[in-house]
Amino acid sequence: MIETNCSLKPFNTFSIEAKAQTLFHFNDMAQLPELLDLVTKYHSENKPVLILGAGSNTLFCEDFSGLVIKVELLGVDISTSDEHYILQVAAGEDWHQLVTDCIAKGIDGLENLALIPGVVGSAPVQNIGAYGTEFKDFCESVEYVDLLTGELVVLSAAECLFAYRDSIFKHTGMSNALITKVTLTLSKQWQPHSRYGSLQNIENQEQVSAKQIYDSVCQIRNEKLPDPEKLGNVGSFFKNPVVSQQQADALLRLYPNMPNYPQNDKSIKLAAGWLIDQAGLKGKTVGGAAVHKNQALVLINQNNATSTDVILLADLVRTKVKAMFNVSLEHEVRFIGREGETNLQQVIKYVRAK
Ligand SMILES: Cc1cc2nc3c(=O)[nH]c(=O)nc-3n(C[C@H](O)[C@H](O)[C@H](O)COP(=O)(O)OP(=O)(O)OC[C@H]3O[C@@H](n4cnc5c(N)ncnc54)[C@H](O)[C@@H]3O)c2cc1C
Repeated sequence: MIETNCSLKPFNTFSIEAKAQTLFHFNDMAQLPELLDLVTKYHSENKPVLILGAGSNTLFCEDFSGLVIKVELLGVDISTSDEHYILQVAAGEDWHQLVTDCIAKGIDGLENLALIPGVVGSAPVQNIGAYGTEFKDFCESVEYVDLLTGELVVLSAAECLFAYRDSIFKHTGMSNALITKVTLTLSKQWQPHSRYGSLQNIENQEQVSAKQIYDSVCQIRNEKLPDPEKLGNVGSFFKNPVVSQQQADALLRLYPNMPNYPQNDKSIKLAAGWLIDQAGLKGKTVGGAAVHKNQALVLINQNNATSTDVILLADLVRTKVKAMFNVSLEHEVRFIGREGETNLQQVIKYVRAK
């Protein structure tokens, strides 16, 4: 189905009003020729094309002047080998539902990634992660269609270049890669990952089951994070910044309680939420947008926020944290402007000029 001049408010979990010139609901591979023709038309008119899942990591900064492809392909195929369950999952399947269904079937492994909003096709893009595991830990391969050529391509997990909230799909030259399917392998020799953060509070760790971890993750997340259905948000707005050992040491002399996590390459990851909290920004509002009063890393649509409210608030957070700690926060959420992907540094210029 194709819609024109369509509101994107129902299609982003921030519930920000913005319009798309055209919205294509891609729910069947048989639509591919029609979709490719439309993409070619938009490219020839120099108009942008955006691939969208559930919009839980997307901030629409303005109306979008081109074609939005909403990926709604469905289907889950489960097979087994001697050692693994092999899951082939279409890109439009809901991620949390997949995790829930697997746990119900006794297919364990994805439990730490429960309740992450969004669809399966978006999971490889930023290599979703939580509670000590990441998408890459289970990924065998990712299939995509090249929207320029119509070719179906399969990348192995190694070829996806997964890293912290990153993959090849975020990089130059891949904006025409529409992920259609992912293949996951889950070991039949399940190992728990329950020593991370609050999961350590699960009693009887030696006997812990995947279902217990799943239940704990859901409980913790429900307590900690606002439900986008009730309060618009995109989860963590900023990435946890990574600084040099030298800079971390200097900061620790000033703030001995600062959370810090040494990385394999000797750099140090800091907790963006802690920095924002220390900068006194919890509960801070700009128009209808606010820093969540319990979770400083989450910006919320408190009261009919506009994209301008969110952008000004994000800039205020970034500026204050930079001034206090000399640490630059990068946003995790993808900023989409009138002509395609943009970023806070770019959009703040025209928002201020308004
Ligand atoms: C309350 C809350 C909690 C969250 N917690 C976490 C967390 O713990 N860990 C975490 O990693 N993330 C978290 N997130 C962020 C978000 O859930 C993930 O980034 C998720 O994978 C986004 O899925 P989506 O379908 O909504 O993506 P969208 O916002 O629709 O898209 C995200 C990006 O992926 C691209 N994309 C989408 N589908 C495709 C496709 N088929 N092919 C190619 N590109 C595509 C889009 O162009 C866009 O750039 C949270 C968000 C919320 C609202």
